[in-house]
Amino acid sequence: MEIDKGTLWQSALAKLELDLTRPSFLTWFQETGISAIESGVVTVLVPNGFAKEWLQNKYHKAILHALRGLAPEIKEVAYAIGQLGGSKASLETRDGARKKRYPEISPFEAEELSMRELTVDPETSLNPRYTFENFVVGSFNELAHAAAQSVIEKPGAVYNPLFIYGGVGLGKTHLIQAIGNEFIKKHPGAAVRYVPSERYMGEVVEAIKSQEMNRLKEKYRTIDLLVMDDIQFLARTEKMQEEFFHTFNSLFEKNKQIIISSDRPPSTIATLEERLRSRFEGGMIADIGLPDLETRLLILKTKLAAKKMALPEPVLSCIAENIKTNIRELEGALNRILIASRLSPSPIDVDAAKKIISSHQAGIMRFVTPKKIIRAVSEFYDIEEKDMLNQSRRRDVVKPRQIAMYLMREELKSSFPSIGEKFGGRDHTTAIHSCEKIAKDLSIRPELEEEIRMIKDKVFSI
Ligand code: ADP
Ligand code: MG
Repeated sequence: MEIDKGTLWQSALAKLELDLTRPSFLTWFQETGISAIESGVVTVLVPNGFAKEWLQNKYHKAILHALRGLAPEIKEVAYAIGQLGGSKASLETRDGARKKRYPEISPFEAEELSMRELTVDPETSLNPRYTFENFVVGSFNELAHAAAQSVIEKPGAVYNPLFIYGGVGLGKTHLIQAIGNEFIKKHPGAAVRYVPSERYMGEVVEAIKSQEMNRLKEKYRTIDLLVMDDIQFLARTEKMQEEFFHTFNSLFEKNKQIIISSDRPPSTIATLEERLRSRFEGGMIADIGLPDLETRLLILKTKLAAKKMALPEPVLSCIAENIKTNIRELEGALNRILIASRLSPSPIDVDAAKKIISSHQAGIMRFVTPKKIIRAVSEFYDIEEKDMLNQSRRRDVVKPRQIAMYLMREELKSSFPSIGEKFGGRDHTTAIHSCEKIAKDLSIRPELEEEIRMIKDKVFSI
């Protein structure tokens, strides 16, 4: 088939853009591309598992339709996680290298195992796989867990709203959906609705277009428990905040329970309107931190038991010791090792486990670049990239710039002269000073650690 992949995808994107809201389009189609077209199957590359899930579940039909409209011979679309390299050749060698080292492990198979989900309830949009029975509680999430229990016992009375925040892959979605599932069990017939903020925005835009705003208002204002996931996306547009504010108030005044999740506390969502922020701060704010070693081990054992599988204890310890900041990653590593153990003739030992984990982590690290660090930092603090690179001494720019320099040193081990160079040709002493300043701040302000962790998550997901 003689189709130019780049042109095909650009044309498909142009079509898709017409049918989607601007935030949806930007959120889900940035950094996508086509990696292969083979026997009528187009493989679309997406930057991460989250994007993959969304494209598959939400936009698959639209994507297929757009592609078919351009090239009728296209029959199917598959999705894979990865990035388009500088050239096609470099992509192939990367894949080739990985295959040679670990022929038995397909990352996509591992993904499949961890993403297998039960069907979502069409009424509530809740996924029944998220329950309290399979939610491990440790000191890192016990406050959030306890608040969740109170909310189920006394909805609308004690903690309203309940605002849960924490880094990527630490169990926010699991916890808030478990609340929804448990709530229905305890209060049969209650109207519960789970909605990621991104979907909510889509619904609002849709309703405005078809002049059915009243119906949408009605739908949201007759709910007993509203669960909104990832509200940081909503915070980007004023109009949506306005609409959500009214819905929020109307539920709140009727003592209906509202649960919200975010990747950061309300006080650090830069674009959040003041009145929403103070509403959120009037409720209960609980964070989910990082699980300690013991808890990570317990999580692994719980997952294994659910799959009715077993691995040697030292292998489990090895996974728990090496993956510290993300439960989804922990699960991913477990799945990769399970697949390897299924395929390998001899039992998996610690050395083999270590290799599997480090080859995967090397795969992630390879994608961190100075550009991504600068982009993540500027997005996080809501400032212009160019202001970080020019000579501005504005306070709101100085600190982010220092953090970006610090991250380049820590994450990429860049030399001080080359860091200075990347920030508009600054002297290497400026880079040294910045890194020292942030290291010192970190030792006296623990909340800065939290900020830096969130920025790192962002770097990985860009
Ligand atoms: P977030 O929404 O914070 O990014 P998720 O809720 O999607 O994270 O969690 C990522 C994965 O880790 C999910 O598969 C989830 O089931 C699992 N997980 C998270 N926290 C726990 C926990 N405390 N116990 C068991 N599994 C967990
Ligand atoms: Mg989530």
